[in-house]
Amino acid sequence: MKQASKIYVAGHRGMVGSAIVRRLQSAGYNNIVTRTSAELDLRNQQAVADFFAAELPEYVFLAAAKVGGILANNKYKAEFLYDNLMIQNNVIHQAYVNGVKKLMFLGSSCIYPKLAPQPLKEEYLLTGALEPTNEPYAIAKIAGIKMCDAYRFQYGCNFISVMPTNLYGPNDNYDLHTSHVLPALIRKFHEAKQTNAAEVTVWGSGKPLREFLHADDLADACFFLMQHYNEEGFVNIGVGEDISIENLALLIKKVVGYEGNIVWDNTKPDGTPRKLMDVSKLKGLGWQAKTSLEDGIKAVYHQKFIVEQIA
Ligand code: GDP
Repeated sequence: MKQASKIYVAGHRGMVGSAIVRRLQSAGYNNIVTRTSAELDLRNQQAVADFFAAELPEYVFLAAAKVGGILANNKYKAEFLYDNLMIQNNVIHQAYVNGVKKLMFLGSSCIYPKLAPQPLKEEYLLTGALEPTNEPYAIAKIAGIKMCDAYRFQYGCNFISVMPTNLYGPNDNYDLHTSHVLPALIRKFHEAKQTNAAEVTVWGSGKPLREFLHADDLADACFFLMQHYNEEGFVNIGVGEDISIENLALLIKKVVGYEGNIVWDNTKPDGTPRKLMDVSKLKGLGWQAKTSLEDGIKAVYHQKFIVEQIA
């Protein structure tokens, strides 16, 4: 990938796509192609075919997806399956038809079986039943990995897949109904502090363990792997450490400076008990995350609720 190469970042307005664009720009890549979803509906086969034929990108980062937290995944099962399958089928197939030199498909740690041993090694894919609350999303992402591998096998395409752990960062979703836990808790504690609320409600038991990676670290790993990984299968991208939801809540409470109480809502699902990536393959290739969770939370909190609110 050269600085002048034409690179299509699908999903550039999302947290992941926007971080990849920032990373490319900071390295001097200036021929980046983007389309908003209003300009190009990636679920539309003909529209995607026309776009690729007109633009002929050389490299593709496929970071466009329908994403959401545990309740959204559970509620909009049909959309999570249909939208994601359509987006990735269209983009991957057109990348092949139009001779894209390399494509990176981004998945998620929820592709692993619910009760897989921890930490999650790449080879545990398809060794057991999935977590029901995000099965449609996971099925779509697994299909994407297999599609990249099949196009490599049958057509010789250099299409690779990466599986990020839970992410947070700029341009995250802070809607309390559809967001993931980390942005939801930042918002809940911030608003409770502002209104002097006596308590903040956190979902589930607090026992589940999750790993959190800053989107800028993820983008740096994607940039690295786009240059150094050319094989079938996929690479986990994570930090290699996890934290309980209870301790995450306490950490966010501290960063925000909220002094009230935490109440647990056990009517909400816990989801999978633990999701920790084994990152030895990624480390072996020469990459490691840099941002500590506390520093990352401070940075996104400051950006979202202090800087943006003043501006
Ligand atoms: P998951 O990693 O796919 O399970 O997705 P989430 O990030 O949505 O949820 C992770 C864990 O955090 C689950 O056990 C949730 O029940 C718990 N959680 C606690 N409070 C919240 C909240 O306000 N929003 C969300 N999305 N999850 C929460």
